[in-house]
Parts: sequence; structure tokens; C-alpha cells
Amino acid sequence: MKIELKEVAEKLKAANNIIVTAHINPDGDAIGSSLALTQILKSMNKQVRVFIDDVLPPNFAILPQIKIIESSNETDEKEILADLLVVLDTQTDRIGNVLKLVKAPILNIDHHITNEGNNVDWLYLNANAAATCEIIFELSKLLPVTLTEEIAHCLYTGLATDTGFFNYANTKPNTLRAAAALIEAGVKPNVIAEEMERKSLSDFTGLVETLKTVQFFYDGKVAGLFVNEAIAHLVDSTEGFIDLVRVIDGVEVAFLLTCKAENFCRVSMRSRTVDVSAIARSLGGGGHIRAAGCTIKAPFDEAKKIIIEAIGKALNG
Ligand code: 5GP
Ligand code: MN
Repeated sequence: MKIELKEVAEKLKAANNIIVTAHINPDGDAIGSSLALTQILKSMNKQVRVFIDDVLPPNFAILPQIKIIESSNETDEKEILADLLVVLDTQTDRIGNVLKLVKAPILNIDHHITNEGNNVDWLYLNANAAATCEIIFELSKLLPVTLTEEIAHCLYTGLATDTGFFNYANTKPNTLRAAAALIEAGVKPNVIAEEMERKSLSDFTGLVETLKTVQFFYDGKVAGLFVNEAIAHLVDSTEGFIDLVRVIDGVEVAFLLTCKAENFCRVSMRSRTVDVSAIARSLGGGGHIRAAGCTIKAPFDEAKKIIIEAIGKALNG
């Protein structure tokens, strides 16, 4: 059932024992919104645990309280009973084992237009919000909390990373108002920007190798980058790789294909014109009109054919 933000606030106030989670392949918005909401709820004297069922990229190590994030893959508990499971920044198909482990009604808070609210008790979806962190910022105004510098740091990180540091089309006046309030609460934008841009030497080497793989399709309207198995061994994170080809003149859709394991490839897409969320959805993924992704369970070369064909269909049709 779709609900309003006011009702989200009421549900959170009414619950005492809350589990917070977000999507696997976690990004700044998933981690930032989870940590911010957890700290907000703790300040309201709730019992809260936060689970993200994946490796956390090293760039997020400076986020306040990042160490409280647990992985359900590392617990012996057979089930966790709670009053509420809050799923952030995704629908429930991308939260890993948490879905099975936690027995609680599900409150889903998201900004992805492709979220259909399947298998949740309540969905608050605001596809106009640049980030789930923007929603949590608005939510905090409806709760008896003060935004500490630590909470603000987490929220700003999600806002900044989901908007390409306030460059993408999802950056709205409200996004910048939220960012301004977070800076007033003590956030240092330069510190967060520097930390997010930081790359390990092996990630840098992986980036150089990846850029050499660039290929153009459909008269230069599509640019692809390929993190094959050999390159995948070099890189921990491909964050930002796609942005370097997205900007080439004439490119309408950029994609990055990453080999994660045998018969398991990840696709990231960015677009200037075409709705890439529809392409992603046709392959079982999702996202936003200009940024979306999916998983293709096939060998690398086959996945390459599948994604090029799917993008071609969207371009021509
Ligand atoms: P990225 O390319 O940065 O991984 O993802 C771009 C956007 O698409 C993000 O908002 C991300 O959450 C969404 N996205 C990426 N992969 C998937 C997927 O497999 N399923 C869904 N539903 N959304 C995805
Ligand atoms: Mn997001």
C-alpha cells in the first residue's frame, strides 16, 4: 500500500524494535540513508540494527558509525523478530538474505521510479527526490530529532553521490535546500568530495585498462566499457568509470559491463535521452530514466550481445 511521508513518520514512532536495510552493491545513498535513519531512530530511543548484505566500498569508511552496519551473512541467528523492517533505496529483491532473516512488516522508502512495491506492507515512493537521503532529510522534519553533524554527514553523502555532486538532472531546488541545511548542520562538502573521489592504485590501474576497452555502437550513439574477468581482478570499485565515456560528444547512452563471477555480469547505464530504466527493467533490473542497471546471468560475451541489442532496440524504437 502506498503511503504519505506523514504516515511513514507515524509508523516509525509507533515501532520500538526496528531493522534498517538497503540494497546490495551499496552506494553512497544506500549507506548514507541507512546510517542516517538508524542514528535518527536511535536518538528517539528505538532499538535499531542496520544490515547491508554486501561489501561496503572503502570510500565510505569515513561515514560516521559505519561500523554498526552488520551483514546477515555473518550472523548465526536463524531469524530476527522486529516491529518493522525498513527497506531503503530499493525494492525488496536487492536486499539479500535480510529479507528471509527478518520477520517483520516491511516499510519501503525509495526514490526509484521502477519500484512497484511488490511484497511490502507500505511503500513511500517519491521519484522526484534526487536521493533516498533527500527523503530521510524531509522525514527528519516530521520526527522529534535534531540533525547532528554525524547524521548530516551521512545524508549529504547520499545526496551528493546520487546527483553527481549536484550536476545531474535530478538536482532540484529542494535538493540544494536540503544540502544547504546539512552544511549548516556542520557538513564539510570538500571533505566528503575528496573522500568519494579517492582511488586506490589498483582501482586506478583498472580504470586505465577499462578505458582501453571502449567500443562505440550505433553510429557513436552508444559507448560501452568492459570490465572483463582480468580487469575485474584489479578493481574493487568501478564507481565513476562510466562518467568518463558518458560525456563524449554524440554519445546518448553509455554502459559499463562488469564480470562479477562466472555467468554473472552487472550492467550500469547512463543516458542523455533514452529511458535506460526501461531497458534495465526489460532485463530484470531497474533504476532511473538517466541512470539504471541490471544483472545478466550469462557468460561475458553473451551478456555483451544482450545489452547492446537491448540498447539498440530502445534507441530505434
Ligand atoms: P549504478 O549504475 O550506479 O549501479 O546504478 C544506477 C541506478 O540504477 C541506481 O539508482 C541503482 O540503484 C539502480 N540499479 C542498478 N542496478 C539495479 C538492479 O539490478 N535493479 C534495480 N532495481 N535497480 C538497479
Ligand atoms: Mn538512491
